Amino acid sequence: MNAPHSSSALAVDDPRFSIAGSNYPLTDEQRELVGLAEQLGRERFAPRAAQYDREATFPFENYDDMRTSGLLGLCIPKQAGGLGADLRTYSLVSATIGKYCGATALTFNMHACTTLWTGLLSEDLDMTAAEREEHRANQQLHFKRVLNGAVYAQPFSEGSAAAAGKAPFGTVASRVDGGWLINGKKIFASLADGADYFGLLCTEDRGDSRSMRDTLYIAVPRNAPGLSIVGDWDPLGMRGTVSRNLVFKDVFVAANEQLMPRGVYFQAASRWPHMFTTLSPTYMGITVAAYEFTVKYLRGEIEGMGPPVKRRMFPTKQITTAEMHIKLEQARALFLRMLDDARVDPPKDARMRALASQFTVMETAQDMCRLAIRTCGGQSMLKSLPLERMYRDARCGSLMLPWTAELCLDRLGREALYESGEQDD
Ligand SMILES: Cc1cc2nc3c(=O)[nH]c(=O)nc-3n(C[C@H](O)[C@H](O)[C@H](O)COP(=O)(O)OP(=O)(O)OC[C@H]3O[C@@H](n4cnc5c(N)ncnc54)[C@H](O)[C@@H]3O)c2cc1C
Repeated sequence: MNAPHSSSALAVDDPRFSIAGSNYPLTDEQRELVGLAEQLGRERFAPRAAQYDREATFPFENYDDMRTSGLLGLCIPKQAGGLGADLRTYSLVSATIGKYCGATALTFNMHACTTLWTGLLSEDLDMTAAEREEHRANQQLHFKRVLNGAVYAQPFSEGSAAAAGKAPFGTVASRVDGGWLINGKKIFASLADGADYFGLLCTEDRGDSRSMRDTLYIAVPRNAPGLSIVGDWDPLGMRGTVSRNLVFKDVFVAANEQLMPRGVYFQAASRWPHMFTTLSPTYMGITVAAYEFTVKYLRGEIEGMGPPVKRRMFPTKQITTAEMHIKLEQARALFLRMLDDARVDPPKDARMRALASQFTVMETAQDMCRLAIRTCGGQSMLKSLPLERMYRDARCGSLMLPWTAELCLDRLGREALYESGEQDD
């Protein structure tokens, strides 16, 4: 996609266009995994991205590549046979994929984070000995499936306040012999066409009152009787995610399909808030890619546009590029700092920084694409080039619950002005 035209062209591995930049302390393993994502992204995902976008189809071939290369097991602990990535490693890999295909990175988030949450993250949460033992057995079931090639999705949204973390989910699980009966509906289920299992959030039915504390996190096999995948998918951006709707009608799910023990998801959401930052790497990747595109475009180094035309000598182009450079450095610095903060029970300032990072990355991605198209000009937004797709994909970041741009502002404003337990008369 971005092959240079001349020997003075920018090196492909220029650190300005990497997620971490130079001098960021990566382990050898992280370097290797990011390198793998770079290679897959550049050689395989980027050339296919336009077709998935045009047809709004799921990137099955990309998932085949990730299966073959072991990336499907990225966040499965090493002792269970995976690559053992923590949240920071996952985020760097995911953002690197996001440079090349937004829909692949965004759906990979739902898959990889299912294993991250049920794996490494769960280790930090309180469970009774019996719950821990049962959870270990359930983990093995899910991990083995993924290592055998299965893909997981995360359908949480229902079009109500539940996915915003402000009300119990309307989808309900009722206890029956050997498992649960699920009834309800999920909207925007990314990987609707590609997942083998849907790891959904629902509320355990305990009679009259419903509470967010009774949130159950459980996997429903794609072929479970009573599960239907419905509706069209023809959105503005992130078209390859194929985020259709799911309807559950008396769907039986065995007890060992639980991805966390009963009640533990509620604990995770309050004690491990960085779990909700995992959508932002995709958009950090788009931010870097829009900047890279602009620099190469203005230098006359974008392939497939006829004889190279340089536009870099105009002061207005230099000013816009400077502005983009500053925005990129701001977003990247906050994003990397946020990754350093991620842990169980983070202090208040780290929690707030996570919200600030999410807001900044999501809003910067679309701003960078806007500036990129403005300064590169009309030819840059033709569908034969990737910038137009990035512009539409980037628009989706701020809409993703539970940490939409508006909800980040909502929480940040409140947390900045109120300490725990404080209220006005
Ligand atoms: C490309 C794409 C892929 C997606 N994939 C998935 C997926 O795999 N799984 C999944 O669960 N969801 C997914 N979603 C859904 C997404 O997370 C949101 O749930 C969805 O966009 C919400 O739709 P809405 O904006 O119409 O919701 P609404 O509930 O109408 O919210 C509108 C806006 O109001 C604000 N808002 C909402 N609730 C409150 C509140 N209580 N207080 C204050 N403000 C509030 C938010 O900022 C929100 O953006 C995806 C969305 C997109 C665009």
